[in-house]
Amino acid sequence: MLVKDPDRIGAYDSVYFSPHLDDVAISCPARVLAERRARQKVLVATIFTEGAPDAEARKKEDRKAMALLGVDHVWLGLPDAPWRNPFYRGFRRIVLESHPDDRVFVEERLVPALGGVLARARPKRAYFPFAVGTHIDHRLTTAGALLPGSMEGHAEVLFYEDRPYVFLSQNLRMRLAELDARLASRPEDLAPAPWESLESTLRFGLTQTAYVRAFLKDEGERRRCNEALFHRLRAAQRWEGAGRGFRLNPEVVRAAGAAVSKIRRTVHAYASQIESLFGDDFDGATAAYAGMISPRSKYAERCWRLLP
Ligand SMILES: [Zn+2]
Repeated sequence: MLVKDPDRIGAYDSVYFSPHLDDVAISCPARVLAERRARQKVLVATIFTEGAPDAEARKKEDRKAMALLGVDHVWLGLPDAPWRNPFYRGFRRIVLESHPDDRVFVEERLVPALGGVLARARPKRAYFPFAVGTHIDHRLTTAGALLPGSMEGHAEVLFYEDRPYVFLSQNLRMRLAELDARLASRPEDLAPAPWESLESTLRFGLTQTAYVRAFLKDEGERRRCNEALFHRLRAAQRWEGAGRGFRLNPEVVRAAGAAVSKIRRTVHAYASQIESLFGDDFDGATAAYAGMISPRSKYAERCWRLLP
């Protein structure tokens, strides 16, 4: 059910923050469905829901997906990056750069919006995007969650791996390194590796990833993005999993049988997005990633729990 007024949110066991009208439903649907099966009350709060010319059509898709997941949801009405600040009219700036006005925006608008939801919902758990693909709206949401004092005392905090961005090899490693994360336990897919193998998997991944092809059609822009990515990867190579930043522990959720077909239907509810995000092979992309984080699973997702 859609909660029309963010000021009238009731109590929930879990709140999932979704930057855009699709992120939670495509990134961590198995986790949501598992909580619903355990009779937990779940709210999905979508943050940047205004500005884009296709916002109304996307809200229609979102209603359908939320109904399939069996959750309540609310749209917080903040403007999407390109309509908040013309600086962000272009994919390269959206994923690789920041504008100085963002700091005030986070403090004065984003954190109060997130805090307002949590104060009313009083959840046991709050989920945020990890910003693996470094979309500015995702990065700001992660930053809001990690801002000292902003989420204190509210709930257990978990970060979900954003899809499809986490499917691009090395994207997660780069993000963990950027946050200088300390891992309580290190999954096999993040084991240290020589530069040559990190570089070649990233190079290969860039040619295979649907969203890179869809959003970076211009040759020059793509080259500039790739250069910046390789630079980030070099820095990430030095990260050993024992940084001085936040302590995190991975949690994998698997799905099988009827849950997988429900996930497929939920993701395909975003008919206007599916092609540019996953190409024509959603099943293949999700199965390949599941094989990396949970061998022998057809479908698996991962969250990162913030430890004290
Ligand atoms: Zn998004």
